[in-house]
Amino acid sequence: MSGAEALLREDLRGFTGYRSARSDDLRGAIWLNANESAHANAADASGRCRRYPDPQPWALRARLAELYGVAEAQVLVGRGSDEGIDLLLRAFCMPGRGRIVIAPPVFGMYAVCARLHGAEVIEIPLAENAAGFAPDFSALADAALAHDARLLFLCNPGNPTGELLPLNAIERLAERLSGRCLLVVDEAYGEYAMQASAASLIARHANLVVLRTLSKAHALAAARIGSVLADAGVIACLRRAQAPYPLPTPCVELALSALDTAALADTDTHVREARIERARLVGLLGALAGVRRVYPSQANFLLVRFEDAQSALARLLEAGIVVRDMRTMPQLGDALRISLGTPAHNDAVLAALASLEAA
Ligand code: PMP
Repeated sequence: MSGAEALLREDLRGFTGYRSARSDDLRGAIWLNANESAHANAADASGRCRRYPDPQPWALRARLAELYGVAEAQVLVGRGSDEGIDLLLRAFCMPGRGRIVIAPPVFGMYAVCARLHGAEVIEIPLAENAAGFAPDFSALADAALAHDARLLFLCNPGNPTGELLPLNAIERLAERLSGRCLLVVDEAYGEYAMQASAASLIARHANLVVLRTLSKAHALAAARIGSVLADAGVIACLRRAQAPYPLPTPCVELALSALDTAALADTDTHVREARIERARLVGLLGALAGVRRVYPSQANFLLVRFEDAQSALARLLEAGIVVRDMRTMPQLGDALRISLGTPAHNDAVLAALASLEAA
């Protein structure tokens, strides 16, 4: 049994999953095995949508492997990183009995997917200190091992908290969990951070899983392209749980264009501009009356505590600006999360908040 197979849901061991009509080993000139139409739709001039897509489009997988510095067998592409989270739960957590560990306040989908799969969520909250939020790595490892959790999720940079976790701490945690639990590092906002990806550690740690997406820095949220990067054994387990044809062909073509050299250079420019805007806003928001704290952020958003978050939210809405209300999260009763916009959008946020009262 491979390392990943040993962590797989007990009832899925030896299960092969759906064999799609585009399986790698099929060859032929006339394809009559998937009940597709023999004719292209008049609206689809090139006929590219007539056939079911490749379940794991090889060109996209190869390009993503190159971009993230891993082998092709270490990449699974899917419908955004949201699908990666869902597949991890489905493949590794026994319905009704599985457990995951998270460090809230954190991206809500880990707990939502766990709930949908009947998995228990063990919470080891982030601690707050003068520098911002930080996980207690040893408490997280202790909890995962004590509860026999199969998945421990970290978000890096953290959403909604913005902090960056150092790679050496991630590596030590992966070592402690080795053979017992998968360490999932969600790098949805990785491009905005000043640190290499944890993907560089996958070759040494078969229990490390990294989630990446084209939805944020690459500006393709509507195309729904995400990747799971992990040891080939983990990827093989996830493929068994995946729906047959996750990615629409037009989205795959768009993603490939978005990853050519010119488009990547453009993305880099926008990421650099976002970092400059981030630094500008941290300073200006922090100086406003009524703002309690602006957390340092390595992502494309800022978490801000207010003296009166309700009034701040109302001022922003009056100006037609929609931000994320974080007040339902236990540690964030006075906080809003504000995504970075264009410089003009950001100026509009500053203008709307300029007249807040100090407490
Ligand atoms: N992870 C994190 C931390 C996120 O903030 C998001 C999007 N809000 C996702 C994953 C999901 O991204 P997508 O499915 O678009 O790749």
